Amino acid sequence: MKRIEEAFGAEMREFTTVGIGGAAERLVFPRSVREIQEILASERAANREVRALGGGSNLLVSDGGVRGTVVCLKKNMGKVLFASGGTAVADAGVMLPRFAVLCALSALSGAEELGGIPGTVGGALTMNAGAYGRAIGDIVEWVEIVDPEGALYRVAARDIRFSYRMAEYPVGGIIARAGFRLRPGHSDEAFSRMKTLNERRRASQPWGERTFGSTFRNPPGLERAAVLLERAGMKGAREGDAMFSEKHANFMINRGRAGSSDVLRLIARGREAVRKLADITLATEVKMWGIAYE
Ligand code: FAD
Repeated sequence: MKRIEEAFGAEMREFTTVGIGGAAERLVFPRSVREIQEILASERAANREVRALGGGSNLLVSDGGVRGTVVCLKKNMGKVLFASGGTAVADAGVMLPRFAVLCALSALSGAEELGGIPGTVGGALTMNAGAYGRAIGDIVEWVEIVDPEGALYRVAARDIRFSYRMAEYPVGGIIARAGFRLRPGHSDEAFSRMKTLNERRRASQPWGERTFGSTFRNPPGLERAAVLLERAGMKGAREGDAMFSEKHANFMINRGRAGSSDVLRLIARGREAVRKLADITLATEVKMWGIAYE
């Protein structure tokens, strides 16, 4: 049996899109669902904390790092299989832009809107990520989850409660693989839609910057978090090298050497400014590791 690939003390800033985060006690890179099961069973037996890591595109990790084991799916869990009738099965570590391109190449439609989101299938299914009117929960048929004891479950989409940037599963654990139902389409139309959407994205969001995307969830009602932050004067506001983007006030950017405490100070300032302006308390969308915040 192959040894599970692992690293000790790796800096999480190398694994997050915002480029922030101290050392992970242990990082493991499973190559199969079986290996995820083995890792979870042995970590449970040893009573060690386990976290799943996808693309690290919605994460703020403490400069102090994280204890326990981080299971990184992006490196070795990247298979996508297509079957007749418009179904696709993707490993949790598959990046959404690659998934969208592979669907388009197979003349399947339904994943185009996800093509500009820099996360993995597993991370997107955790967050019900989406854009331009489509979320991943709209196209998924089933999800395979390894529970904290190492047992594998297949959950049908109808048993998962998807809502705005949220998914509630009947079983907790690590998402290992998922099946998708797509529509027959045309490759050129799918690529053309992705190109249009990416141009829209480039026009409204910072590009090529170190960021974790949206800091806050849009509050219930009509007001978007970005507009509230802008009206509250937070566009371009800084704490050290952490900054709310000049282009999109809800996007947090690392201008170079920002640390988790700079980001937390700026989050607190943004939240306070919006509370004063509109009496709305924004909730964070970004997930935090090693940080006691909310
Ligand atoms: P990570 O950041 O690695 O993890 C996020 C959370 O999911 C963590 O709690 C983690 O433990 C959990 N997780 C990850 N993988 C698994 C798994 N296999 N099993 C169980 N739990 C898991 N989001 C949108 O919805 N729409 C957008 O348009 C959008 N645009 C963005 C643009 C930019 C430039 C950036 C940086 C981010 C954007 N995001 C957007 C946010 C982010 O890309 C999504 O939330 C994405 O789904 C996160 O996936 P990830 O694999 O990077 O997850």
